[in-house]
Amino acid sequence: MKSQKLFLFDFDGVIVDGMNEYWNSSLLAFEKFLNPSGILIDQNLYNQVSKTFIEVRPWVKYGWEMIIIVNEIIKKENPLNDNNKRDFLNKYHKNCQKILLDNSWVAEDLQKYLDEARKYQIDKDFDNWIKLHRPFYEVLDFINKIKEDKMKTGIITTKGKIFAGKILEKLNIFPELIFGYESGSKVEIASRLSKEYEIMAFIEDRRNTLIDIRQNNLTNNIPCYLADWGYLKDTDKTNLPHEIKLLKLRNLEELLAI
Ligand SMILES: [Mg+2]
Repeated sequence: MKSQKLFLFDFDGVIVDGMNEYWNSSLLAFEKFLNPSGILIDQNLYNQVSKTFIEVRPWVKYGWEMIIIVNEIIKKENPLNDNNKRDFLNKYHKNCQKILLDNSWVAEDLQKYLDEARKYQIDKDFDNWIKLHRPFYEVLDFINKIKEDKMKTGIITTKGKIFAGKILEKLNIFPELIFGYESGSKVEIASRLSKEYEIMAFIEDRRNTLIDIRQNNLTNNIPCYLADWGYLKDTDKTNLPHEIKLLKLRNLEELLAI
């Protein structure tokens, strides 16, 4: 019998808002490791997250895609902006693949560069890197209440496990389980966990991930919640499948009453 109760959380957009960090790390990864045509990177770019980057972020599934987006925003010819953003987003995944191909880039390499850029900043000035993240304190409080109620917390993120762990530690949050992109897809991880735990909720801000969870017959009994404080597309909240509930920060604690 599965007696141990577990709450599952996505990390980015659910536990912390790391927009500043995504921009800084992706830009740094681009500058240090790629920069195909040797574009001179204006160092002021690091100080202000691009508005286009913020608008495109809800489409991102894996970290490496953010380096592609940086490339599109800062390139000289036909850069990504308000005029062509709609077209780019309409075929977002196709466009990411095409940009990889056109530049002879490999997604796994880009992910490695992003991780390297993060390591570089952590080694240089850890506190400054941490400051690029803004925690959602209501979620941190909620995780502490889960612990008080003798239930467990698991975090499933598409970033490297080590980076999520460092941020959580600094926030004084110690979840029993953390899984990064190294552990496989979120559906795979959730299906393994559901054999061992009674999963009370999966709180995530990527609608398609929740749809995948509900459509897989090993995970379709997991209660799914779309975090409305996260990186959502305008259309994410409308016509939500009935088995996925929209969750607001102020309603988090109602989940403990289940
Ligand atoms: Mg997220």
